[in-house]
Amino acid sequence: MPATILDGKAMAKAIRQDVARDVARLRERGLVPGLAVVLVGDDPASHTYVRAKAKACREVGIHSEVHHLPVDTPEAVLLETVRRLNERRDIHGILVQLPLPAHIRPKAVIDAVRPDKDVDGFHPLNVGNLAIGDRCLVPCTPRGILEMVKRAGLEVAGKRAVVIGRSNIVGKPMAQLLLREDATVTVCHSKTPNLPAVAREADLLVVAIGRPAYVDDRFVKPGAVVIDVGINRLADGRLVGDVDFAKVQHVAGYLTPVPGGVGPMTIAMLLKNTVEAADAQAKAAW
Ligand code: NDP
Repeated sequence: MPATILDGKAMAKAIRQDVARDVARLRERGLVPGLAVVLVGDDPASHTYVRAKAKACREVGIHSEVHHLPVDTPEAVLLETVRRLNERRDIHGILVQLPLPAHIRPKAVIDAVRPDKDVDGFHPLNVGNLAIGDRCLVPCTPRGILEMVKRAGLEVAGKRAVVIGRSNIVGKPMAQLLLREDATVTVCHSKTPNLPAVAREADLLVVAIGRPAYVDDRFVKPGAVVIDVGINRLADGRLVGDVDFAKVQHVAGYLTPVPGGVGPMTIAMLLKNTVEAADAQAKAAW
């Protein structure tokens, strides 16, 4: 029997409707959540993502603004832009779109964002609080994946989870979140030997490596939940994930499509993080 497809687009739509209701309630109290996105340079994919984020904000009533800086912007100017946004009371979330041009140190920029406005969840304080299980802003992609799994009614506690990829934005926070949810977690990367055999142990397999259709049926235990985070554009313009959908759909129990899987959930979680940040900042100001 082919895998049940986890429809991230439909789930994200439902979440955006919930967020719109939350925003309306905050607006009644005179609080308009505000997100600032900082974009440096002209990377076409980054522009597409930023446009999608701004549109999603508008649709739920979040104020959004894009600060577009030229590709040769000095690091000091970018840091000053972030500092000014840190101080603004009408901006509750700040997101610096990655990747940055090579002359800018991403760590310096991530460290400069006020932790309670860090809606990407990349600041070391949020990373640390996630690791020790304290209150924090959780990175949007892993948060969206967990939300998707829960909305599908799938159990995480006690399950074997394997995460392939150990980036700071997806793999590592995903592993931390799954651990927090009582899964038994294994994290794999490019130096993991016998990867298909390790992946085959997973009840829940999350793949975030950036390699088109790399994970095929040899990596998947029959009936497993397979989450494909990858977004890869092929030479012919098609978007494909890191999972070979055609092969894996005959083995997995549940599978996310690309596009229409994790991507829309990531944006929905950005909206949620922004609203939660606005609410928390308003409460802290009282
Ligand atoms: P990175 O390039 O930062 O990290 C890739 C990770 O995958 C690394 O840990 C790397 O290992 C590992 N890896 C690479 N090749 C292999 C391999 N052959 N076998 C095992 N592990 C491997 O990528 P990101 O985490 O930023 O992104 C991963 C993918 O997810 C990309 O396609 C990206 O576009 C997509 N993405 C999608 C999002 C969404 O909203 N849907 C959001 C963010 C990312 P090592 O550490 O050893 O080098």
